Amino acid sequence: MAATLFISDLHLDACLPELSRLFERFLTEQAAQAEALYILGDLFEAWVGDDDERPETGQFVRQLRRLSDQGVPLYVMQGNRDFLFADGFAARTGCQLLPDPSVIDLYGRPTLLLHGDSLCTDDIKHQESRKLLRSRKWKDDFLALPLDKRIELAHEYRSMSREHLRDQPEAIMDVNAQAVAELMRKYGVTQMIHGHTHRPAIHSFKLDGVPAQRIVLGDWNEVGSVLFCDEKGCELRQFPA
Ligand code: MN
Repeated sequence: MAATLFISDLHLDACLPELSRLFERFLTEQAAQAEALYILGDLFEAWVGDDDERPETGQFVRQLRRLSDQGVPLYVMQGNRDFLFADGFAARTGCQLLPDPSVIDLYGRPTLLLHGDSLCTDDIKHQESRKLLRSRKWKDDFLALPLDKRIELAHEYRSMSREHLRDQPEAIMDVNAQAVAELMRKYGVTQMIHGHTHRPAIHSFKLDGVPAQRIVLGDWNEVGSVLFCDEKGCELRQFPA
């Protein structure tokens, strides 16, 4: 199976042991044979800093390390949940951290990769908090707190974010079509892959008269969602099939 695999939005959490096992099986049964694995954000429900070496997060770090030690190139992008991934995480897992967005050459086709939340421009509140949380100052202040305090705050942010999501109309939570077109033009691509919205699909459309594709990765629950890409094209599959 010579394919490049893309996943996102697993929201791994130690209190979801079945999801943890599903992810571990995916790594050994599919990712181990891949040409490369790309994780486009929200691998974890929360990531409070690369110094978090509790066993519940360490198990995932070790599994990723095993994969990269097997020689599978591993690329990880921050999501809006795990935006504190930094060099320590890369060193521990052997992954390469990708900036959001990044252009890669996917079997000859320039492809823009991003988590996807930056495209949800209709969700003003999310964009405001995104700007704040990604600022150097906020990150430095947060990371200076003791680990226990950070874990506690992460729980608080999560329930706040759940409330916000519950109050939002469906359409606002999806990507803004104009933001998609603008970004594709800016990077000169006709293909993009992102996650975040939990609305897996391959959208084909015309961008300035040229055929274009926006591929949306799915989230993981009882089953996983994996994008397989090779010379022939891309296909969304469930794991296990
Ligand atoms: Mn997300």
